[in-house]
Amino acid sequence: MEQRSAQQSILNLFRLHGQTALVTGGNRGLGLAMAQALAEAGANIMIAARDEATNQQAAEKLRSLYGIECLSTSCDVTNEESVRAAVAQTIDQFGKIDVLVNSAGINIRGAIETLSLDDFKKVQEVNVTGTWLFCREVTPIMKQHGYGRIINMGSMLALTALAERTPYATSKGAILQLTRALAMEVAKEGITVNAILPGPFATEINLPLLNDPEKYQAFIAKIPLGRWGELHEIGGIALFLASPASSYVTGACFSVDGGWVAQ
Ligand code: NDP
Repeated sequence: MEQRSAQQSILNLFRLHGQTALVTGGNRGLGLAMAQALAEAGANIMIAARDEATNQQAAEKLRSLYGIECLSTSCDVTNEESVRAAVAQTIDQFGKIDVLVNSAGINIRGAIETLSLDDFKKVQEVNVTGTWLFCREVTPIMKQHGYGRIINMGSMLALTALAERTPYATSKGAILQLTRALAMEVAKEGITVNAILPGPFATEINLPLLNDPEKYQAFIAKIPLGRWGELHEIGGIALFLASPASSYVTGACFSVDGGWVAQ
């Protein structure tokens, strides 16, 4: 069996000291939980989301918990100029981007006949266009360095379906194919591109389910592990995909859903 050198001990492969991670939607919810995992592993973090006060609170939390450098930039992922500015600011401050996590996302639920075209477009713009814009902006920087890790947030609804989710399921199916196509494109450049497909976690995006005991229980009934995910349970896969430990993994997707899509 091939031996790993001491420097490549398995735990060292998960360390991110000296690396920079840009996390969209990193000011709360799953984005913040993933940023926290990367910060604990030593990465410096740039948070990109719209709400400046929430951005600053999250950045302060990560700085004080882990002693890393953490900055934030007010960014609307649907706006090309705003995405360019966020990436430029990250380069100004940190000099490079090793890890991109696309976690910004929204959901608008409802029976198809009750939804407007604007509802449909809004979901695609944040979930798909926003992710595509950040990938487009960051890929040349990673190519220059010959290294990169891109993580896109899909959903279990990329693989399986639920009623009254046409805009969201459409967008998350697109994320899966965006991930695979980009992975093919940059495979020879030292860049990997993978997707995480979460099941239900108690964050703001799910308030309509969390505030409805019947819907909340209906979800639990479908989850083999019998519960919603806890925020920290997204951290392990995020760190694996963000680190050198996942060097032979690209174009892949990882369900973190308590077993939902396995049935
Ligand atoms: P939250 O609602 O907690 O967080 C959403 C994040 O996206 C916030 O940081 C928000 O910040 C940011 N955001 C929304 N719109 C924009 C925009 N136009 N520009 C920039 N940032 C934006 O949701 P989660 O953390 O749970 O979701 C994170 C990702 O995980 C999403 O892609 C979601 O689809 C996916 N996911 C979540 C699941 C869950 O159960 N929670 C299940 C499956 C997938 P701000 O408002 O300040 O801009």
